[in-house]
Amino acid sequence: MSFEINHTHDAKARSWVESTNRSGSDFPIQNLPCAVFRRRHSAEAWRGGIAIGDEVVDLAALSQKGLLQGLAATATAACSQSTLNAFFDMGPSAWQALRHGMFRLLGLDANTEQQRTFAECLVPQSGVEYAVPVQIGDYSDYYTSIYHAENIGKLAGLNTATPNFKWIPLAYHGRASSIGVSGQKFRRPLGQAKAPDAQAPMLQPTQKLDYELELAIYVGKSNQLGQPVSVSDAEQHIFGIGLLNDWSARDIQFWEMAPLGPFLGKSFATTISPWIVSLEALAPFRLPFERPARDPQPLPYLDAKANRAAGAIEITLEVWLGSSKQRVQGVPTKRVSSTSFRHQYWTIAQMLAHHTINGCNLTIGDVLGTGTVSGPTVSEAGALIELALNGAAPVELATGEKRSFLEDGDTVALRGFCEKPGFARIGLGECLGEVLPALDVQRGY
Ligand code: CA
Repeated sequence: MSFEINHTHDAKARSWVESTNRSGSDFPIQNLPCAVFRRRHSAEAWRGGIAIGDEVVDLAALSQKGLLQGLAATATAACSQSTLNAFFDMGPSAWQALRHGMFRLLGLDANTEQQRTFAECLVPQSGVEYAVPVQIGDYSDYYTSIYHAENIGKLAGLNTATPNFKWIPLAYHGRASSIGVSGQKFRRPLGQAKAPDAQAPMLQPTQKLDYELELAIYVGKSNQLGQPVSVSDAEQHIFGIGLLNDWSARDIQFWEMAPLGPFLGKSFATTISPWIVSLEALAPFRLPFERPARDPQPLPYLDAKANRAAGAIEITLEVWLGSSKQRVQGVPTKRVSSTSFRHQYWTIAQMLAHHTINGCNLTIGDVLGTGTVSGPTVSEAGALIELALNGAAPVELATGEKRSFLEDGDTVALRGFCEKPGFARIGLGECLGEVLPALDVQRGY
């Protein structure tokens, strides 16, 4: 919608960086996602990087080499900072200039001297650590999968999604301070929960810890307070997307949620992937936004020709579960579900347009979670509570262990990628998190 398909999407393009030629790499030359990194266990300054094959392009180092000119050079210099906010602030023309500059220098057309100079700026991904890539001002989390909404609606005692679901891209305000980057470990949260047959609630470690498979949408351009963004212009305000795990304590959540929405059942941790894939890189994977004729059509402020033509995105999304026992036994983690972002009821442009229709101002670096991505069948469920049918059909791990909810030591890895005949496969990388034991509620905390 925002970006046309161009030479940077050419499936035949190759890089002189050898590891990009491995089939199945998430990071071929057609992808070029951004992160913030430094060498692991070092005191180096955090700075921006771009993924190519198994390497990270150190943008702070590259900006000293004089290989780029004009807007691409200025954009690279902006990425030398510890967050990508200043780079985002330069706008879509700078985002494109950096991508196209990288594509030229990493391609086979770069001369030997350029390749040798550029190679001094490559750092193996195996030796780096990542930071949250932007200064996140606010985090809003949506609820845009009709299948997830129907499944949760049934668990909440309704027969289906709430009546407003088909009219509003629903969302609540999340907590930005507890967002961590892939590799995040967090304690099983304490909270107040009430069993259905109990007289009173208790404070205890959650017994129903869950994950939610989501995408993070990164706001790249602000709008002024009082000035809505139209659905046609919405994607001009989005830099790109990453993976997001909205960890959820279902017992705490369901006890607290009426009447004001989720709070402590969600705010203890949210994990994001390090890499942000630009909307330009996703251009080949756009799909029409379609709404079944029997459903209400979007109100005019959520409707636009461009959104109907290409508002949706085909992104395969997967959940992989592991456990302490699985790591001890040295067996691989198991993929427990796979679905596609194409099933969402609302598009990212509609989410952003709705967020601002009342005049609410989004700022650079804000994160919009898409809500759990669940497809039409149980095996496409994006949360364990749905996948295990609320405990009725526990999920089996690679070790034979069964899970209705997460246990201490469990790991959840989200992965995503885009594939389409005639185009290079691009990946979103991984979003990994691990559950640590709770604090001892009896001994104090
Ligand atoms: Ca969520």
